[in-house]
Amino acid sequence: MKYLLKLKPFFILFILMYFIDNSTAQDVTYKPIKLYMKSNSSFYRPDFFDPTLKSSADSALILACKVLNSQEFIDSFSKCNFSFKNYIKTSNTKCKSKFDVIAQKEIFDKIFLSKKDSITLLLINSGGCNDGSMGMSQENIYKITSYYRTIECDDDTLSFAYKYAYHICHEYMHIVGFYHFQSPKKRDLENDIAEKAGWLAYNILKRWQKEGIIIKGL
Ligand SMILES: [Zn+2]
Repeated sequence: MKYLLKLKPFFILFILMYFIDNSTAQDVTYKPIKLYMKSNSSFYRPDFFDPTLKSSADSALILACKVLNSQEFIDSFSKCNFSFKNYIKTSNTKCKSKFDVIAQKEIFDKIFLSKKDSITLLLINSGGCNDGSMGMSQENIYKITSYYRTIECDDDTLSFAYKYAYHICHEYMHIVGFYHFQSPKKRDLENDIAEKAGWLAYNILKRWQKEGIIIKGL
C-alpha cells in the first residue's frame, strides 16, 4: 500500500501529461486577435490611387479579425490535419518530417499568440481578372501588399471589404509562419494552411453578408 501511495504523484503527473500533450485549440482560451492599421501605414504611398478605399481597408481588417476569432473558424480548423510541409523552409521551428502533422495547438498558438497587433495594409493599383495572385506577405513582417484589380475581380456578389478581408486572412497565415509548398495549380487546398484559412474565411464572410449579420465597428 505504501508503495502504491508513493507511486500516486507519478500517476497524477502521467495523467496531466497525457492531457497536456493531447490538448487542442478548443481546450485553450486564447485572447482574440486584434489587428490595427499601423498609424504610419504606407497605405498612403504615392501610387495609392483612391483614398475612399481606406475605409474599405479598415472594414476589411475588422472583418478579418472577426472571422479568425469566430468559433466557426476555430472549429473548422480544429478538424484539419496539416502537414509540416506548411512551414517555411527558413523557419527555425523544430521541423520533424515533412510528412508529420503539425499539432493543432502549435497552429493556434502561432495564429493567436501573435507578437504584434499593428499591421500595414498596402493596396496598389495592379493585378487583374486573369491574375491569380491577390497579394503577398512574409513571415514575421506585419505588412500585406494587395493587388486592387485582382481582388476587385473576385466574387462579384461580395463587397470589396469582404473580398479584401478573406485575402487578409490568407496572408495572415503567411505572416505567422505558414507558406505554400506547392505551385498554385497543384495546390492541395485542404492541406495548405493559408489556402484553407482563405477559403474558410470566404465561406464565412459570404454567409455573413447574405444573412445581413451586423459586424460591430463597421
Ligand atoms: Zn498565399
